[in-house]
Amino acid sequence: MVNEMNIDFTEQELAFREEVRAFFREELPEQVRYKIDNGLRISRDDQVAYQKALHAKGWAGVNWPVEYGGTGWSSAQKYIFFNEAAEAAAPRIIPFGLSMVAPVIYTFGSEEQKQRFLPDILASNVWWCQGYSEPNAGSDLAGLKTKAVRDGDHYIVNGTKTWTTLGHYADWIFCLVRTSDTGRKQEGISFLLIDMKTPGVTVKPIITLDGRREVNEVFFEDVRVPVENLIGEEGKGWTYAKVLLTHERTNIAGVAPSKHRLSTLRKLLDNPPAGMGNLRQNSLFMARVIQAEVELKALEFTELRVLSAVSTGKAPGPESSILKIKGTEVQQMIDELYLEVAGYYALPFVPGQYEDGYDGVRIEPHFAPDVAPHYYNNRKVTIYGGTNEIQKNIIAKAVLGL
Ligand SMILES: Cc1cc2nc3c(=O)[nH]c(=O)nc-3n(C[C@H](O)[C@H](O)[C@H](O)COP(=O)(O)OP(=O)(O)OC[C@H]3O[C@@H](n4cnc5c(N)ncnc54)[C@H](O)[C@@H]3O)c2cc1C
Repeated sequence: MVNEMNIDFTEQELAFREEVRAFFREELPEQVRYKIDNGLRISRDDQVAYQKALHAKGWAGVNWPVEYGGTGWSSAQKYIFFNEAAEAAAPRIIPFGLSMVAPVIYTFGSEEQKQRFLPDILASNVWWCQGYSEPNAGSDLAGLKTKAVRDGDHYIVNGTKTWTTLGHYADWIFCLVRTSDTGRKQEGISFLLIDMKTPGVTVKPIITLDGRREVNEVFFEDVRVPVENLIGEEGKGWTYAKVLLTHERTNIAGVAPSKHRLSTLRKLLDNPPAGMGNLRQNSLFMARVIQAEVELKALEFTELRVLSAVSTGKAPGPESSILKIKGTEVQQMIDELYLEVAGYYALPFVPGQYEDGYDGVRIEPHFAPDVAPHYYNNRKVTIYGGTNEIQKNIIAKAVLGL
């Protein structure tokens, strides 16, 4: 049972925890675990194999309704699953299919669309990416300009999406497109599913601060998209998109992985390996560690409240903005603590050394690898999914009524 101050698991929940631990012991390949623990990239195939193993066990649709193949887990079970996954150094589930477009399809899609798309999403047969942001439409997303013009039983799509995470892996993209220029700009937006193999779709890399390819630009040039790929009604895309964003923000908080990183840091501080300074004696540093632990604990209970609401069928509300802000702030606090632990080792940043096949000298502390790329890469978390400043605006309006 989960209550505000304490967590006591029931017998069944403890049995479930054993089952989850056994799953990770048996199904998570050692090389994947090693890569995740050491900040190395896993391949598309590794990621898909992991998600397929979850599916085979019936655990892919964590938040999905049972009728579409969801787990039917209680909030306590979800809590257990995500914490054990982080402890086992399992990859995070890529959200675009399973946690982002799926809720839109099962909530607003037609029967035909549900049957066509949901089974392949659940089985991770198809990789999805998210086409919301554009070069001039990020925070002001409703200003998006990618146009979809009706031509018989097709839309002709023209425009550019940007920051498309893992778009180079994707088979399909879910897009917000402009189908009308009249009225409020939100009312001219529609939600369209586009096969990335359609002629006229081009994907170009954007290399991020950590030297890796994670995001892309996606160009659409006279791309013909069947009308049956429109979700719900034309002009209602904004409403559907907002539902999706609350799911996205709840995921970004990353409470369980932060707990894992902080407890690993604690172990390092308690038994500093050779080469690491004794920061345990540094009270200013330790005060920051404790502050991160306290904030994370408070965040964990907020997340439990949201998980519990989602279990009863509700979409997460403005609490998802609170989770996003605090969760990402704590992630960046932890990144900074690791930088200090690594000391001067964090400075010579050689991105290539973290890639498969690198055979040069590795410059990093053996006790805390991946510190610099993690720090650089994680600058993104306060930006994507809607920046933290925008989340504060949402809280001001939706929670404080300002
Ligand atoms: C690594 C990464 C991955 C991403 N992945 C995806 C993806 O897969 N799909 C996708 O569609 N998008 C993705 N995004 C895009 C992301 O959602 C946008 O970057 C984000 O919404 C901010 O938009 P922008 O970059 O245009 O910044 P801008 O909107 O130009 O904002 C610039 C600055 O101004 C501030 N600001 C703007 N408006 C206001 C306001 N009204 N009040 C207060 N402050 C304001 C912002 O907070 C920010 O600090 C990704 C971004 C990153 C960095």
